[in-house]
Amino acid sequence: MEKRHKFSIWYMLLGIWMVLIIQQYLVSLFAIETIPYSRFLQLLSEGKIEEVAISSNQIQGKLKDDAVTEGKKKMFKTVRVDRETSELLNRYQVAFKGEVESTFVRNLMSWIIPVFLFFGIWYFMMKRMAGQQPGFMTLGKNKAKIYVEEDLGVDFDDVAGVEEAKQELIEVVEFLKEPGRFTQLGGKLPKGVLLVGPPGTGKTLLAKAVAGESKVPFFSMSGSEFVEMFVGLGAARVRDLFAQAKQKAPCIIFIDELDALGKARGIGITGGHDEREQTLNQLLVEMDGFDPTVGVVLMAATNRPEILDPALLRPGRFDRQILVDRPDKVEREAILKVHLKNIKAEEDLDIGKLASMTPGMVGADLANLINEAALLAVRRKKQKVGMPEFEEAVERVVAGLEKKNRLINPKEREIVAYHELGHAVVALSLPGTDPVQKISIIPRGIAALGYTMQTPTEDRFLMSRTELLNKIATLLGGRAAEEIVFDDISTGAHNDLARATDIATSMVKEYGMSVKVGQVYFAREKQSRFLNLGPEGATEYSEATAELIDNEVREIINTQYSKALDILRKCREVLNKGAKLLLAKEKIEGNEIKAIMQEMQKT
Ligand code: ADP
Ligand code: MG
Ligand code: ZN
Repeated sequence: MEKRHKFSIWYMLLGIWMVLIIQQYLVSLFAIETIPYSRFLQLLSEGKIEEVAISSNQIQGKLKDDAVTEGKKKMFKTVRVDRETSELLNRYQVAFKGEVESTFVRNLMSWIIPVFLFFGIWYFMMKRMAGQQPGFMTLGKNKAKIYVEEDLGVDFDDVAGVEEAKQELIEVVEFLKEPGRFTQLGGKLPKGVLLVGPPGTGKTLLAKAVAGESKVPFFSMSGSEFVEMFVGLGAARVRDLFAQAKQKAPCIIFIDELDALGKARGIGITGGHDEREQTLNQLLVEMDGFDPTVGVVLMAATNRPEILDPALLRPGRFDRQILVDRPDKVEREAILKVHLKNIKAEEDLDIGKLASMTPGMVGADLANLINEAALLAVRRKKQKVGMPEFEEAVERVVAGLEKKNRLINPKEREIVAYHELGHAVVALSLPGTDPVQKISIIPRGIAALGYTMQTPTEDRFLMSRTELLNKIATLLGGRAAEEIVFDDISTGAHNDLARATDIATSMVKEYGMSVKVGQVYFAREKQSRFLNLGPEGATEYSEATAELIDNEVREIINTQYSKALDILRKCREVLNKGAKLLLAKEKIEGNEIKAIMQEMQKT
């Protein structure tokens, strides 16, 4: 694109120049002959001139027919010389001619310099604009092309600690390698794969690795690049991207930071989002329109799946979502090893220790850490990077992350560990609760510092009163553990409390599970928030009933909380052992806690 600009400017200047020269040349050469003034005077005295036209400094004239000799022209022109001088010169018989001071070069300069300046400034500005938003000149045509990369030099070995995601993506790689084999069997691949996870966990890297593994072209664009300053450009760009990708199939289209483009429509009140909406609509149209059997796989990444337009997640669109979560200790070790390959480090490094020093860090932080350590070693003029550098680098990176509020301190980690164990131990002690799958203290997002994952073994349509009560007890187990262990409670339980209260309220108001309130239904049908019928807070029951309901809900919660406290007090040892294990490993299986519990019960 830039080359073409340069050429066009030069061509233009050259053109102007040539026209000027040729014109001058033609006029002077072919039609009119320039003769010296002395010759003109001679011709005049010989009576060979038919007529003349006189201007301020030049005389143009025509010779008589019979005066035209071989090789001479009929028309002539001469530059005037003033009378005095000409008479004087004539007297001494000197041939002379007038000379018009050439203004050509001066004219040229006074034109060309401004023109040059103008084009120069224009060119410079274009270049800057193009730098800021590529595709400005070409209206999106070449945009996607710029980003096509055939060989990224990244494969699955470069991405560590995301085994589950890799497992899921292997299928995509196989499809891209041999699209024919899949379609023969009638298999259908998901059209869109969405990588979801916090920033810096390696989503972009994974997408590149898929391309690298399957050795197909990789069309990559960032969601924010689609949202252009010209209306309609984003949509055109999407269309173009898909058209180009189809020609290059099998290939991957990767849209990074999909949330910038795929925010739910109709959120903005200002109404300034038409452009983004158009682009998003175009993306949806293209996704519906393309046939995955041609071998184009659409991948996207986001760290904010919750704000995506639901239409994007419907079947046939981004119907496969892959979680790329923060790494636990073992996974961090693997990531550190990958990045250690790039630097010269001492052989006897304690990578395990490094991994345990970096809780909460993601792949990008770890890459940064290794880099910092290498820089420190250079500063210290060391041949190899050693443990002291790594430890100092950890401190630096941690300080940086703490400033950004992305790491929790050790005390908080301990509280979170006991809290999560509280949930798990209560759940494991009560019958009819969902089995505990996993416990983790790897923070996820802003709200959850840790989590206890329970998955039901079967689909449930009915739940008994006991089951609901046990569920409440489990939810309260986190806070109960905090109270027992630290003799204090934290704000970390507010989500648990909300859910527990929700269940208890439903038991009283909807399921008729409270003896005092009785078998009645009090909940109002859920209405649209916007169609607010009736005055605020109007309910169909009396003040007294409302109080009764409140009391019953509180009663249920309190009873279950005491139950949780009882259970945990009896299992104090399990709590301690489990918390220790969890703090060390960051993520443990439900079975491991179960094993500890069984062991304790034996003694
Ligand atoms: P995301 O797209 O999830 O925000 P990136 O893929 O851009 O994260 O990761 C940024 C950098 O961090 C990568 O280039 C890589 O150096 C490093 N990194 C992140 N995750 C990993 C990982 N799982 N294994 C190895 N390196 C990683
Ligand atoms: Mg990214
Ligand atoms: Zn909790």
